[in-house]
Order: sequence, then C-alpha cells, then structure tokens
Amino acid sequence: MSSERIDAQLAHASFIANLHGAARDVAEKHVGYICHRDERGNHYWIQRYNDDGSVWCIHARDSILPGLDAPAVIASTLIDCDCGAWMPASKEQAHASRAIIARAMRSSMPS
Ligand SMILES: [Zn+2]
Repeated sequence: MSSERIDAQLAHASFIANLHGAARDVAEKHVGYICHRDERGNHYWIQRYNDDGSVWCIHARDSILPGLDAPAVIASTLIDCDCGAWMPASKEQAHASRAIIARAMRSSMPS
C-alpha cells in the first residue's frame, strides 16, 4: 500500500472520529478518499456526510451530470470505485449540466 493511501486513511480516521450517528456510520463504510459509483452510472466524489445518513456528492467529468452537486445521495446505493481517474468537470460541462436541470425543472412546472 502506498504511503499516500496510508496518509489518506489516517486523515479519514481522524476526520470521522468527530462525526456522530448516521454520518459516522456512513463515513466508516464509504470512505472519503476514494471515488464512488452507483448502478445508474453516476461517478461521485463525496463532499459531505449528512446527519441523516445521506451523502453530498459531486459528479465527475465522466458522470451523468458532470460538475453537478447531488446533495442527498442515499449512501446504500454507493459502490466503491477507487479507479484513481476521478476528474472534476470542465466549466463547460458543469454549465451544460445546469442547463439540463433548468430545462427539466421548467418542463415539470404546471402550466
Ligand atoms: Zn472512480
């Protein structure tokens, strides 16, 4: 195991020692120093462990909605990825993702 990975594990262990309840349980199972996927093809990096046991994630460059935040992902849907290739979205990708969401929100509004 690389010394970088060991450092990341130690930093995560120190970090989760300050979490409580559901957030801590999730952080022990889904560590914050690797990327995650779900069965729908989302490729996430965890940003925050929410108190309700969900996680705040951001979509990777190669995810379904690059650059978009996913504020309440159900932690049990996450699968460890750890591909080492997670990359943030470009500005253009993030802008396109936000436009998709804006269009979807407009079309779901009652007329
Ligand atoms: Zn990955």
